[in-house]
Amino acid sequence: MPKRLILLGGGHAHLRVLKHLIKHKPAELEVLLVSPSPWQYYSGMLPGLLAGDYRLQDCRVDLASMARRAGVELITAALEYWVADQRLLGLSDGQTLHYDLLSVNTGSETQLGDLQTLGDVLLPIKPLDHFYQRSQQLFAAFVPGDLVSAAVVGGGAAGAEIAMAVQQALLTRGLRPAIQLITGESGVLAGHASAVQRRLMQLLQHKGIAVIASRASAIEPGKLQVGDKQLSVDLLIATTGARAPDWLAAAGVSLAGDGFIAVNACQQSVSHPEVFAVGDVASRLDKPVEKSGVHAVKAGGVLRHNLVAAASGRSLKLYKPRPVSLYLLNTADGKALLSWGPLTAHGAWVLQWKHWLDTTFIKAFND
Ligand SMILES: Cc1cc2nc3c(=O)[nH]c(=O)nc-3n(C[C@H](O)[C@H](O)[C@H](O)COP(=O)(O)OP(=O)(O)OC[C@H]3O[C@@H](n4cnc5c(N)ncnc54)[C@H](O)[C@@H]3O)c2cc1C
Repeated sequence: MPKRLILLGGGHAHLRVLKHLIKHKPAELEVLLVSPSPWQYYSGMLPGLLAGDYRLQDCRVDLASMARRAGVELITAALEYWVADQRLLGLSDGQTLHYDLLSVNTGSETQLGDLQTLGDVLLPIKPLDHFYQRSQQLFAAFVPGDLVSAAVVGGGAAGAEIAMAVQQALLTRGLRPAIQLITGESGVLAGHASAVQRRLMQLLQHKGIAVIASRASAIEPGKLQVGDKQLSVDLLIATTGARAPDWLAAAGVSLAGDGFIAVNACQQSVSHPEVFAVGDVASRLDKPVEKSGVHAVKAGGVLRHNLVAAASGRSLKLYKPRPVSLYLLNTADGKALLSWGPLTAHGAWVLQWKHWLDTTFIKAFND
């Protein structure tokens, strides 16, 4: 009797697992993939998509094709509830599934807090495809020459990239954008080297993007309190950090302090050894690992080994994250900004490099 492995979510790590299964699918495993969409959208290319560098179809991986080639059954539904002690998943299409092994790579949701009360002007960055479709609808509601007041809340790399990309997208439509990047007290690119932060601040200033280092809270639809000022906005994009999905709290699996699945260095649940979790949805108890696409991809290499090893009783590998990650931020002007430890650079060659890395990543899974 084959063991049943369920891949929950089509995140970065599962792309690597599927790629591996296309070449070497163990006969003793029945594999199912559960994903709300047959496409996996790549966040690294979202700023370029908004700024007009790419088309939507350039920025996604065809999960249905990968599953077909890997001999994996794709179930197009979202998880709604999980009973870890019964190894049971309840899906949005009404079906329930049992598993012997479960691998969770469902990412994170956007931390919205009271911004939720802002009404139609609010655009959470995730899910990425919803964000993109809604942004296009909202942009299309303006006519050339209109002044558009847009706020991006969140001072991380995603917030900065999106602020620059939205400005470019609005300019391309003949609109007059007034963009505010609201970062909270920690400012832009907290955790990056001060040289990178300075370089980004210069760029934002040059582009006329105002940076406000205060917290934003909602007053009423379309109106924000930012520090001691009130701000009316036509649209607000929330890139406010990672929040655990609601279904995790009731699953009965051990959670870390941040509400995500608590895992060990093998990316294995500390309470349910038949469960593995990678990417934003997992939090390592042995060491803090940043929630980023880079780590989700890298941990995927270990995950693909560990899933097969766990099914056959072999020993597991550890995921050893590199201490420093490379970030390439699209600055929406034909250039990108590099942040790698203390090093920084800004230029067209950085964007060309980013373009090569991103398109090679997508191509590796779509071919
Ligand atoms: C604009 C932007 C730019 C970014 N740029 C970078 C970058 O350049 N480098 C970097 O390292 N990080 C970047 N990040 C961060 C990065 O996107 C995340 O850390 C990364 O996507 C996490 O990967 P993941 O594999 O855990 O999940 P995801 O890539 O989010 O994939 C999760 C998958 O699970 C599916 N899913 C969700 N809920 C369910 C459910 N209930 N049931 C079934 N399936 C579900 C989703 O549809 C999705 O397919 C960026 C983020 C943003 C917003």
